[in-house]
Amino acid sequence: MNRLNENFSRLEGDYLFSEIARKVEAYRRAHPRADLIRLGIGDVTLPLAPTVIAALHRAVDEMARPETFRGYGPEQGYAFLREAIQQGEYAPRGVQLEPDEIFVSDGSKCDLGNLQELFSPRCRVAIADPVYPVYRDSNLMAGREVLLLPATRENHFAPELPTTPVDLLYLCSPNNPTGTALTREALQRYLDYAREHGTVILYDSAYSSYLRDPELPRSIYELDGAREVAIEFKSFSKAAGFTGLRCGFAVVPHALKVDGQSLNPRWFRRQCTKFNGVAYPVQRAAEAVYSETGRIEIAAQIAYYQENARLLREGLQAAGYEVYGGEQAPYLWWKLPTADSLAFFDRLLDKCGVIGTPGVGFGPHGEGYFRLTAFGDRERTREAVSRIAALG
Ligand code: PLP
Repeated sequence: MNRLNENFSRLEGDYLFSEIARKVEAYRRAHPRADLIRLGIGDVTLPLAPTVIAALHRAVDEMARPETFRGYGPEQGYAFLREAIQQGEYAPRGVQLEPDEIFVSDGSKCDLGNLQELFSPRCRVAIADPVYPVYRDSNLMAGREVLLLPATRENHFAPELPTTPVDLLYLCSPNNPTGTALTREALQRYLDYAREHGTVILYDSAYSSYLRDPELPRSIYELDGAREVAIEFKSFSKAAGFTGLRCGFAVVPHALKVDGQSLNPRWFRRQCTKFNGVAYPVQRAAEAVYSETGRIEIAAQIAYYQENARLLREGLQAAGYEVYGGEQAPYLWWKLPTADSLAFFDRLLDKCGVIGTPGVGFGPHGEGYFRLTAFGDRERTREAVSRIAALG
Protein backbone atom coordinates (compact mmCIF):
# COMPACT_ATOMS: atom_id res chain seq x y z
CA MET A 1 0.00 0.00 0.00
CA ASN A 2 1.26 3.50 -0.86
CA ARG A 3 1.00 5.65 2.22
CA LEU A 4 1.83 8.89 0.43
CA ASN A 5 -0.40 10.85 -1.91
CA GLU A 6 1.24 9.78 -5.15
CA ASN A 7 -0.39 12.65 -6.99
CA PHE A 8 2.39 14.83 -5.66
CA SER A 9 4.79 12.95 -7.92
CA ARG A 10 2.92 14.40 -10.88
CA LEU A 11 4.02 17.93 -10.00
CA GLU A 12 6.89 19.32 -11.96
CA GLY A 13 10.05 19.78 -9.92
CA ASP A 14 10.19 22.63 -7.50
CA TYR A 15 7.82 25.51 -7.34
CA LEU A 16 9.02 27.99 -9.96
CA PHE A 17 9.91 30.84 -7.64
CA SER A 18 12.00 28.68 -5.30
CA GLU A 19 13.93 27.42 -8.30
CA ILE A 20 14.59 30.99 -9.44
CA ALA A 21 15.57 32.08 -5.93
CA ARG A 22 18.13 29.27 -5.87
CA LYS A 23 19.60 30.35 -9.21
CA VAL A 24 19.83 33.98 -8.10
CA GLU A 25 21.45 33.01 -4.82
CA ALA A 26 24.05 30.92 -6.65
CA TYR A 27 24.74 33.87 -8.97
CA ARG A 28 25.08 36.29 -6.04
CA ARG A 29 27.55 33.99 -4.31
CA ALA A 30 29.61 33.78 -7.49
CA HIS A 31 29.34 37.59 -8.16
CA PRO A 32 29.05 39.27 -4.76
CA ARG A 33 29.39 42.78 -6.22
CA ALA A 34 26.75 42.36 -8.94
CA ASP A 35 24.11 45.13 -8.98
CA LEU A 36 20.95 43.08 -9.52
CA ILE A 37 17.51 44.46 -10.41
CA ARG A 38 14.63 42.21 -9.39
CA LEU A 39 11.73 42.28 -11.82
CA GLY A 40 10.88 38.65 -11.20
CA ILE A 41 8.63 37.76 -8.30
CA GLY A 42 5.28 39.49 -8.29
CA ASP A 43 5.55 41.14 -4.90
CA VAL A 44 4.79 44.77 -4.14
CA THR A 45 7.53 47.08 -2.85
CA LEU A 46 5.71 50.23 -1.65
CA PRO A 47 4.85 50.29 2.07
CA LEU A 48 1.23 50.08 3.19
CA ALA A 49 -0.83 53.25 2.76
CA PRO A 50 -0.96 55.57 5.81
CA THR A 51 -4.72 55.08 6.25
CA VAL A 52 -4.23 51.30 6.30
CA ILE A 53 -1.44 51.61 8.85
CA ALA A 54 -3.58 53.88 11.05
CA ALA A 55 -6.43 51.35 10.97
CA LEU A 56 -4.01 48.58 11.92
CA HIS A 57 -2.68 50.59 14.88
CA ARG A 58 -6.17 51.36 16.12
CA ALA A 59 -7.18 47.73 15.91
CA VAL A 60 -4.04 46.57 17.68
CA ASP A 61 -4.80 49.01 20.51
CA GLU A 62 -8.32 47.60 20.74
CA MET A 63 -6.78 44.18 21.28
CA ALA A 64 -4.94 45.59 24.32
CA ARG A 65 -8.09 46.60 26.24
CA PRO A 66 -10.46 44.11 27.87
CA GLU A 67 -13.58 45.93 26.66
CA THR A 68 -12.50 45.92 23.00
CA PHE A 69 -10.40 42.75 22.85
CA ARG A 70 -11.50 40.22 20.18
CA GLY A 71 -10.82 36.52 20.11
CA TYR A 72 -12.00 34.19 17.36
CA GLY A 73 -14.01 36.07 14.75
CA PRO A 74 -16.59 34.79 12.29
CA GLU A 75 -14.96 32.26 9.93
CA GLN A 76 -16.48 34.08 6.96
CA GLY A 77 -15.07 37.46 8.02
CA TYR A 78 -16.43 40.32 10.10
CA ALA A 79 -19.65 41.90 8.86
CA PHE A 80 -17.95 45.33 8.71
CA LEU A 81 -15.46 44.09 6.11
CA ARG A 82 -17.99 42.19 4.02
CA GLU A 83 -20.16 45.30 3.99
CA ALA A 84 -17.16 47.46 2.97
CA ILE A 85 -16.37 45.01 0.14
CA GLN A 86 -19.95 45.14 -1.12
CA GLN A 87 -20.08 48.94 -0.96
CA GLY A 88 -16.53 49.64 -2.13
CA GLU A 89 -15.92 46.91 -4.66
CA TYR A 90 -19.26 45.82 -6.08
CA ALA A 91 -21.91 48.54 -5.63
CA PRO A 92 -20.05 51.01 -7.92
CA ARG A 93 -20.23 48.40 -10.71
CA GLY A 94 -23.94 47.80 -10.16
CA VAL A 95 -23.40 44.39 -8.51
CA GLN A 96 -25.40 43.58 -5.38
CA LEU A 97 -24.15 40.64 -3.31
CA GLU A 98 -25.63 39.18 -0.14
CA PRO A 99 -23.22 39.48 2.81
CA ASP A 100 -23.06 35.69 3.16
CA GLU A 101 -21.96 35.30 -0.47
CA ILE A 102 -18.61 36.92 0.46
CA PHE A 103 -15.98 34.81 2.24
CA VAL A 104 -13.03 36.77 3.65
CA SER A 105 -9.78 34.82 3.64
CA ASP A 106 -6.06 35.19 4.21
CA GLY A 107 -5.47 35.70 0.48
CA SER A 108 -6.42 34.25 -2.86
CA LYS A 109 -3.73 31.61 -3.08
CA CYS A 110 -5.38 29.56 -0.32
CA ASP A 111 -8.85 30.07 -1.76
CA LEU A 112 -7.76 29.13 -5.27
CA GLY A 113 -5.85 26.12 -3.99
CA ASN A 114 -8.62 24.97 -1.64
CA LEU A 115 -11.83 25.51 -3.54
CA GLN A 116 -11.31 22.48 -5.76
CA GLU A 117 -11.98 20.34 -2.64
CA LEU A 118 -15.69 20.87 -3.21
CA PHE A 119 -15.48 18.84 -6.42
CA SER A 120 -15.06 15.19 -7.21
CA PRO A 121 -11.56 13.97 -8.18
CA ARG A 122 -13.18 12.81 -11.42
CA CYS A 123 -14.15 16.31 -12.52
CA ARG A 124 -12.57 17.48 -15.77
CA VAL A 125 -10.65 20.70 -15.36
CA ALA A 126 -9.55 23.23 -17.99
CA ILE A 127 -6.95 25.87 -17.28
CA ALA A 128 -5.55 28.61 -19.47
CA ASP A 129 -1.90 28.07 -20.35
CA PRO A 130 0.23 29.98 -19.39
CA VAL A 131 -1.20 30.96 -16.03
CA TYR A 132 -0.60 31.30 -12.28
CA PRO A 133 0.57 27.76 -11.40
CA VAL A 134 -1.65 27.26 -8.32
CA TYR A 135 -4.74 26.18 -10.31
CA ARG A 136 -2.91 23.41 -12.10
CA ASP A 137 -0.87 22.17 -9.17
CA SER A 138 -3.75 22.07 -6.69
CA ASN A 139 -5.81 20.00 -9.14
CA LEU A 140 -2.92 17.67 -9.87
CA MET A 141 -2.45 17.16 -6.11
CA ALA A 142 -6.11 16.15 -5.91
CA GLY A 143 -5.59 13.60 -8.70
CA ARG A 144 -7.53 15.34 -11.45
CA GLU A 145 -6.67 15.41 -15.11
CA VAL A 146 -6.03 18.93 -16.31
CA LEU A 147 -6.67 20.15 -19.82
CA LEU A 148 -4.53 23.12 -20.81
CA LEU A 149 -6.07 25.75 -23.09
CA PRO A 150 -3.36 27.61 -25.01
CA ALA A 151 -3.36 31.39 -24.59
CA THR A 152 -1.22 32.70 -27.41
CA ARG A 153 -0.60 35.95 -29.21
CA GLU A 154 -2.66 34.51 -32.11
CA ASN A 155 -5.78 34.25 -29.93
CA HIS A 156 -4.90 37.51 -28.09
CA PHE A 157 -4.26 35.45 -24.95
CA ALA A 158 -7.95 34.55 -24.67
CA PRO A 159 -7.96 30.73 -24.99
CA GLU A 160 -10.39 28.95 -27.29
CA LEU A 161 -13.30 27.22 -25.60
CA PRO A 162 -12.62 23.59 -24.61
CA THR A 163 -13.56 21.19 -27.40
CA THR A 164 -14.71 18.56 -24.91
CA PRO A 165 -17.04 19.49 -22.03
CA VAL A 166 -15.29 20.35 -18.76
CA ASP A 167 -16.65 20.66 -15.22
CA LEU A 168 -14.32 23.39 -14.00
CA LEU A 169 -12.77 26.23 -15.95
CA TYR A 170 -10.14 28.50 -14.40
CA LEU A 171 -9.80 32.00 -15.83
CA CYS A 172 -7.50 34.78 -14.70
CA SER A 173 -8.07 38.36 -15.83
CA PRO A 174 -6.09 40.56 -15.85
CA ASN A 175 -3.79 37.67 -16.38
CA ASN A 176 -0.65 36.64 -14.61
CA PRO A 177 1.68 36.21 -16.49
CA THR A 178 0.53 37.62 -19.85
CA GLY A 179 -0.56 40.98 -18.43
CA THR A 180 -3.57 40.97 -20.77
CA ALA A 181 -7.25 41.26 -19.83
CA LEU A 182 -10.33 39.49 -21.16
CA THR A 183 -12.78 41.73 -22.94
CA ARG A 184 -16.43 41.72 -21.97
CA GLU A 185 -17.21 39.79 -25.18
CA ALA A 186 -14.56 37.14 -24.53
CA LEU A 187 -15.73 36.68 -20.96
CA GLN A 188 -19.35 36.43 -22.07
CA ARG A 189 -18.36 33.62 -24.45
CA TYR A 190 -16.93 31.61 -21.52
CA LEU A 191 -20.04 32.32 -19.47
CA ASP A 192 -22.34 31.19 -22.26
CA TYR A 193 -20.25 28.04 -22.66
CA ALA A 194 -20.39 27.39 -18.90
CA ARG A 195 -24.15 27.81 -18.79
CA GLU A 196 -24.57 25.46 -21.71
CA HIS A 197 -22.30 22.74 -20.31
CA GLY A 198 -22.89 23.08 -16.56
CA THR A 199 -19.29 24.21 -16.10
CA VAL A 200 -18.22 26.14 -13.01
CA ILE A 201 -15.91 29.08 -13.77
CA LEU A 202 -13.29 29.92 -11.16
CA TYR A 203 -12.52 33.53 -11.96
CA ASP A 204 -9.33 34.94 -10.48
CA SER A 205 -9.47 38.70 -10.55
CA ALA A 206 -6.54 39.45 -8.24
CA TYR A 207 -5.32 42.29 -10.48
CA SER A 208 -8.60 44.01 -11.36
CA SER A 209 -7.44 47.28 -9.73
CA TYR A 210 -4.86 47.60 -12.50
CA LEU A 211 -7.44 47.82 -15.28
CA ARG A 212 -7.30 51.21 -16.97
CA ASP A 213 -9.88 50.67 -19.71
CA PRO A 214 -13.30 51.52 -18.20
CA GLU A 215 -14.98 49.16 -20.68
CA LEU A 216 -13.29 46.08 -19.20
CA PRO A 217 -15.19 44.23 -16.47
CA ARG A 218 -13.81 44.55 -12.90
CA SER A 219 -15.99 41.69 -11.75
CA ILE A 220 -17.41 38.71 -13.59
CA TYR A 221 -20.78 39.47 -11.97
CA GLU A 222 -21.12 42.53 -14.16
CA LEU A 223 -21.93 40.09 -16.97
CA ASP A 224 -25.18 38.30 -17.68
CA GLY A 225 -25.66 34.91 -16.12
CA ALA A 226 -22.43 34.89 -14.10
CA ARG A 227 -23.99 34.27 -10.69
CA GLU A 228 -25.30 30.87 -11.79
CA VAL A 229 -21.90 29.63 -12.95
CA ALA A 230 -19.00 31.62 -11.48
CA ILE A 231 -16.98 31.93 -8.30
CA GLU A 232 -14.84 35.07 -8.10
CA PHE A 233 -11.57 35.49 -6.22
CA LYS A 234 -10.10 38.84 -5.24
CA SER A 235 -7.16 39.80 -3.12
CA PHE A 236 -5.90 42.86 -1.26
CA SER A 237 -2.33 41.74 -2.03
CA LYS A 238 -1.67 43.59 -5.25
CA ALA A 239 -4.68 45.90 -4.94
CA ALA A 240 -3.46 47.46 -1.68
CA GLY A 241 -0.03 46.06 -0.86
CA PHE A 242 -1.26 43.32 1.50
CA THR A 243 1.14 40.59 0.36
CA GLY A 244 2.67 40.50 3.84
CA LEU A 245 -0.53 41.27 5.73
CA ARG A 246 -2.69 38.62 4.03
CA CYS A 247 -6.30 39.27 3.12
CA GLY A 248 -8.54 38.42 0.20
CA PHE A 249 -12.01 37.05 -0.44
CA ALA A 250 -13.98 34.64 -2.55
CA VAL A 251 -17.54 35.18 -3.74
CA VAL A 252 -19.71 32.08 -3.92
CA PRO A 253 -23.19 33.18 -5.05
CA HIS A 254 -26.28 31.40 -3.73
CA ALA A 255 -27.48 30.96 -7.30
CA LEU A 256 -24.50 28.74 -8.18
CA LYS A 257 -25.61 25.12 -8.09
CA VAL A 258 -23.93 21.90 -9.14
CA ASP A 259 -26.03 18.73 -9.45
CA GLY A 260 -28.87 20.69 -7.87
CA GLN A 261 -26.80 21.54 -4.76
CA SER A 262 -25.81 25.09 -3.86
CA LEU A 263 -22.04 25.50 -3.45
CA ASN A 264 -22.33 28.37 -0.97
CA PRO A 265 -23.24 26.29 2.14
CA ARG A 266 -20.62 23.71 1.21
CA TRP A 267 -17.86 26.30 1.03
CA PHE A 268 -19.13 27.74 4.32
CA ARG A 269 -18.95 24.25 5.87
CA ARG A 270 -15.47 23.71 4.49
CA GLN A 271 -14.19 27.05 5.81
CA CYS A 272 -15.78 26.52 9.23
CA THR A 273 -14.05 23.16 9.51
CA LYS A 274 -10.59 24.10 8.27
CA PHE A 275 -10.19 27.85 8.68
CA ASN A 276 -10.50 30.13 11.70
CA GLY A 277 -10.66 33.50 10.04
CA VAL A 278 -8.34 36.43 9.35
CA ALA A 279 -6.80 38.46 12.19
CA TYR A 280 -9.07 41.28 13.40
CA PRO A 281 -6.48 44.06 12.82
CA VAL A 282 -5.93 42.81 9.26
CA GLN A 283 -9.66 42.94 8.56
CA ARG A 284 -9.81 46.49 9.90
CA ALA A 285 -6.86 47.33 7.64
CA ALA A 286 -8.72 45.86 4.65
CA GLU A 287 -11.82 47.85 5.56
CA ALA A 288 -9.68 51.03 5.50
CA VAL A 289 -8.75 50.31 1.86
CA TYR A 290 -12.28 51.41 0.93
CA SER A 291 -12.29 54.58 3.06
CA GLU A 292 -12.08 57.95 1.36
CA THR A 293 -8.41 58.55 2.16
CA GLY A 294 -7.56 54.86 1.69
CA ARG A 295 -8.86 54.95 -1.85
CA ILE A 296 -6.86 58.06 -2.74
CA GLU A 297 -3.60 56.71 -1.29
CA ILE A 298 -4.02 53.32 -2.88
CA ALA A 299 -4.93 54.78 -6.26
CA ALA A 300 -1.59 56.63 -6.13
CA GLN A 301 0.26 53.36 -5.43
CA ILE A 302 -1.43 51.61 -8.33
CA ALA A 303 -0.63 54.57 -10.57
CA TYR A 304 3.03 54.27 -9.56
CA TYR A 305 3.17 50.62 -10.63
CA GLN A 306 1.17 51.37 -13.78
CA GLU A 307 3.73 53.99 -14.74
CA ASN A 308 6.52 51.43 -14.22
CA ALA A 309 4.61 49.09 -16.51
CA ARG A 310 4.36 51.80 -19.14
CA LEU A 311 8.10 52.50 -18.93
CA LEU A 312 8.89 48.82 -19.35
CA ARG A 313 6.47 48.36 -22.21
CA GLU A 314 7.52 51.41 -24.16
CA GLY A 315 11.20 50.90 -23.38
CA LEU A 316 11.19 47.34 -24.65
CA GLN A 317 9.17 48.30 -27.71
CA ALA A 318 11.59 51.15 -28.47
CA ALA A 319 14.43 48.63 -28.24
CA GLY A 320 12.68 46.64 -30.97
CA TYR A 321 11.11 43.90 -28.86
CA GLU A 322 7.66 42.43 -29.15
CA VAL A 323 5.92 42.85 -25.83
CA TYR A 324 2.38 42.25 -24.55
CA GLY A 325 0.55 43.25 -21.38
CA GLY A 326 1.55 46.11 -19.11
CA GLU A 327 -1.47 48.24 -19.99
CA GLN A 328 -4.18 46.58 -17.92
CA ALA A 329 -1.90 44.71 -15.50
CA PRO A 330 1.42 45.04 -13.67
CA TYR A 331 2.99 42.33 -15.85
CA LEU A 332 4.86 42.52 -19.14
CA TRP A 333 4.91 39.48 -21.38
CA TRP A 334 8.01 39.70 -23.50
CA LYS A 335 8.18 37.60 -26.68
CA LEU A 336 11.73 36.40 -26.77
CA PRO A 337 13.91 36.11 -29.82
CA THR A 338 14.78 32.61 -28.53
CA ALA A 339 12.60 29.60 -27.73
CA ASP A 340 14.42 28.80 -24.48
CA SER A 341 13.16 31.08 -21.71
CA LEU A 342 15.24 29.41 -18.99
CA ALA A 343 18.44 29.98 -20.95
CA PHE A 344 17.29 33.58 -21.50
CA PHE A 345 16.84 33.98 -17.74
CA ASP A 346 20.51 33.06 -17.24
CA ARG A 347 21.59 35.37 -20.06
CA LEU A 348 19.63 38.37 -18.79
CA LEU A 349 20.97 37.81 -15.29
CA ASP A 350 24.51 37.49 -16.52
CA LYS A 351 24.57 40.31 -19.10
CA CYS A 352 22.19 42.86 -17.50
CA GLY A 353 21.86 41.85 -13.86
CA VAL A 354 18.10 41.86 -14.42
CA ILE A 355 15.98 39.14 -12.86
CA GLY A 356 12.76 38.16 -14.61
CA THR A 357 10.69 35.01 -14.79
CA PRO A 358 11.01 32.45 -17.60
CA GLY A 359 7.65 32.03 -19.31
CA VAL A 360 7.86 28.24 -19.34
CA GLY A 361 7.36 28.28 -15.57
CA PHE A 362 3.74 29.28 -16.18
CA GLY A 363 2.95 26.42 -18.55
CA PRO A 364 4.15 24.96 -21.85
CA HIS A 365 2.70 27.84 -23.89
CA GLY A 366 4.74 30.26 -21.81
CA GLU A 367 7.88 28.97 -23.49
CA GLY A 368 9.51 31.59 -25.68
CA TYR A 369 8.24 34.37 -23.40
CA PHE A 370 9.57 36.14 -20.33
CA ARG A 371 7.65 37.90 -17.55
CA LEU A 372 8.77 41.23 -16.12
CA THR A 373 6.90 42.88 -13.28
CA ALA A 374 6.16 46.53 -12.65
CA PHE A 375 6.40 46.27 -8.86
CA GLY A 376 9.94 47.61 -8.67
CA ASP A 377 11.33 50.99 -7.76
CA ARG A 378 10.92 53.64 -10.51
CA GLU A 379 14.60 54.42 -10.97
CA ARG A 380 15.59 50.75 -10.89
CA THR A 381 12.90 50.03 -13.48
CA ARG A 382 14.31 52.75 -15.73
CA GLU A 383 17.78 51.36 -15.19
CA ALA A 384 16.58 47.86 -16.12
CA VAL A 385 15.08 49.21 -19.35
CA SER A 386 18.30 50.93 -20.35
CA ARG A 387 20.37 47.84 -19.59
CA ILE A 388 18.00 45.68 -21.64
CA ALA A 389 18.08 48.20 -24.52
CA ALA A 390 21.88 48.05 -24.48
CA LEU A 391 21.79 44.23 -24.63
CA GLY A 392 21.08 44.37 -28.36
N1 PLP B 1 -3.90 35.06 -8.26
C1 PLP B 1 -2.91 35.47 -9.05
C2 PLP B 1 -3.12 35.51 -10.51
C3 PLP B 1 -1.68 35.83 -8.49
O1 PLP B 1 -0.70 36.23 -9.30
C4 PLP B 1 -1.51 35.77 -7.10
C5 PLP B 1 -0.24 36.13 -6.46
O2 PLP B 1 0.75 36.39 -7.04
C6 PLP B 1 -2.58 35.33 -6.33
C7 PLP B 1 -3.77 34.99 -6.94
C8 PLP B 1 -2.45 35.14 -4.85
O3 PLP B 1 -2.46 36.27 -4.12
P1 PLP B 1 -2.57 36.26 -2.56
O4 PLP B 1 -2.53 34.87 -2.02
O5 PLP B 1 -1.41 37.06 -2.09
O6 PLP B 1 -3.89 36.90 -2.27
